[in-house]
Amino acid sequence: SITVFGSVNLDLTVSVEQMPEPGVTSHATGFLKGLGGKGANQAVAATRLARGAVRFVAAIGADAFGDSLKASLDGLGVDTRDLVTMPEHDSGIALIHVDVSSQNTITVVGGANMAWSAEGPDACCFDKCKVALFQLETPQDATIAAMRKARAAGASVILDPAPITTSGMDALLAEADIITPNETEAAGLSGTKPTNLEEAREVARSLCARGPRTVIVKLGAKGLAYASSEGQGGIMEPFKVKAIDTVAAGDSFNGALAVALSEGMPLEAALRFASAAGALATTKKGASEAVPDRAAVDGLISN
Ligand code: ADP
Repeated sequence: SITVFGSVNLDLTVSVEQMPEPGVTSHATGFLKGLGGKGANQAVAATRLARGAVRFVAAIGADAFGDSLKASLDGLGVDTRDLVTMPEHDSGIALIHVDVSSQNTITVVGGANMAWSAEGPDACCFDKCKVALFQLETPQDATIAAMRKARAAGASVILDPAPITTSGMDALLAEADIITPNETEAAGLSGTKPTNLEEAREVARSLCARGPRTVIVKLGAKGLAYASSEGQGGIMEPFKVKAIDTVAAGDSFNGALAVALSEGMPLEAALRFASAAGALATTKKGASEAVPDRAAVDGLISN
């Protein structure tokens, strides 16, 4: 099975003519509530694409938002048995402004997502786990503890180093088998921003020396590059699609990668599967709504 440990947020998205300025009150032109958080998006992606079981380990607050988040996850078929309620905390929230040129600003209130103790989740969350997926919207010490528990259970550990922070990364990288930074995260980790696939491959190679067996650098519409500590590596061109909204591309990619690896696909095939899922996610608006299903991903690959 697959276990995703990560964040779940209520996304509150307002559309505005222009970004708010200090001291000015303005009216929104639109408003949307939705399920978000990198952990939840990746759990939705894995659940939609997997043929086997997917567990989602996350924390909500003891509030109405928490009930609503659980109901949304249930509605999307995500297994919510491992959701923990943090009694003293609010549920995670993302306050998102989107202006007419599609620029956005996002303010996250971590809330319950940041309330895990240093022990992290219970080890039983990783029972029989083949692939475990992590991001950085949970406390570093809890995430490291969770990665260790996954490793002890025999799972392959995938870390999406997003959103990137500068401190404490080496301890996280040491616990990961595979990392999947995008160009910003690759720059944060390596000090060099890759602008093309050849540079991305170099960065991937250099990051391998920091612990992970495999490093996959995602460059959005430019495709991806990868390197492994056994000296393998390469670049992969993207699938050609008509992209309208890149939200959730990376999360779909990661969920799909976990699914492919849990099914025993070799790395190249797994990367194709994940790239197809990422590409398809850009053809629809929204986060969890944009995650493709298995038939769509298999269809794009065999085309
Ligand atoms: P993130 O959302 O983490 O920044 P990316 O934007 O790099 O991630 O997207 C992840 C993957 O999804 C890419 O490596 C690529 O395979 C696929 N992808 C993203 N955008 C496009 C696009 N416009 N066309 C085709 N594939 C895309």
